Amino acid sequence: MVTEEEKIFAKNFNIEDLSDVPSGLPPHLKVKQNRVLSKNDAPIDTQDTIYMGGDISVGVDESVKLKNFYEDFKVDVISCTETDMEFDMIGIDAAFANAFRRILIAEVPTMAIEKVLIAYNTSVIIDEVLAHRIGLIPIAVDPRLFEYLSENDQPNEKNTIVFKLHVKCPKGAPRLRVLTNELIWLPNGSEFLKESGGSNSKPKTYTSFSCSQDSLPEFANNPIAPSHLDILIAKLSPGQEIELEAHAIKGIGKTHAKWSPVGTAWYRMLPEVVLLGEVENEQAEQLVKACPQNVFDIEDMGNGRKRATVAQPRNCTLCSECIRDTGLEDLVDLRSVKNHFIFKIESTGSLPPDVLFTEAVKIMEDKCERVIGDLS
Ligand code: SF4
Repeated sequence: MVTEEEKIFAKNFNIEDLSDVPSGLPPHLKVKQNRVLSKNDAPIDTQDTIYMGGDISVGVDESVKLKNFYEDFKVDVISCTETDMEFDMIGIDAAFANAFRRILIAEVPTMAIEKVLIAYNTSVIIDEVLAHRIGLIPIAVDPRLFEYLSENDQPNEKNTIVFKLHVKCPKGAPRLRVLTNELIWLPNGSEFLKESGGSNSKPKTYTSFSCSQDSLPEFANNPIAPSHLDILIAKLSPGQEIELEAHAIKGIGKTHAKWSPVGTAWYRMLPEVVLLGEVENEQAEQLVKACPQNVFDIEDMGNGRKRATVAQPRNCTLCSECIRDTGLEDLVDLRSVKNHFIFKIESTGSLPPDVLFTEAVKIMEDKCERVIGDLS
């Protein structure tokens, strides 16, 4: 029979109030929850950090909370140049890091050559291969200044960029390398004439520009050109010639890789190398020698004693060489931090990598808003 007193006690009882009950997960479970452990044969504890209440029975609630995300999320830029950026994304789940990677590769738009009108090609490269090579040339222009060209649109100054290429290798001259610097921007649009309807009508070209693109303020002092001017397009022997026009339009990498704004965008979890005990003298030297990434160093302890230390854990590629056939697998823990990602973006040159990432964030935001809109 439960007494009234016991009922009141049970109602007010909170296990966290008991001083001798430790709160939170014990350390070994925390490591399991937050780290992937690389073992000789395979990694373990690889499940996500987003966890919906499996440890609630021990008073630990690690369900997703926006407040926690605001407090924990951090981006640290390690390096940023015109084309490459490395940054740390901390406090985020792998699914989000991967979403950014995929958006960067496939959904941030760029301008790329879609149509190649070949007037003359006596090189050894067949027209289709030549057009394909030209299509993959990255163009240094901000795609946000252009509109998409849909099926029924006329190519105009707002949706199309036209380049011409006309190169001839004179007879008796050495072989000629045709590079991307030969692609000349035509701010007035196509110069190739379409067949006219009648003798009195104005000859039509393949574009309908209403004004010259170089009269627009954004391009007046900023002529459009390929990102790299030394990419080899073709080689011409004496007497060979190429004459063509290349028309670039806006698109995304999901349609074709030529529109992808990045050479690559990738991430890895932050490696963590932990020595579980003292590694001394010969063993320390063996450990330093085993690592191809110079992760370990040797500390002189005096009296001829040497000790291994973890000097550059970020360099670790988790190759496992240090625990393979060294007999040190019980002394070295190779871990990856599950919610800390080292992210790298290599831009093809259309936009700087930091701008690409902010564009990716905007696209992600749009997607989230669409989902919320659909659910409400
Ligand atoms: S896993 Fe490879 S890179 Fe990392 S510490 Fe061991 S040997 Fe060095």
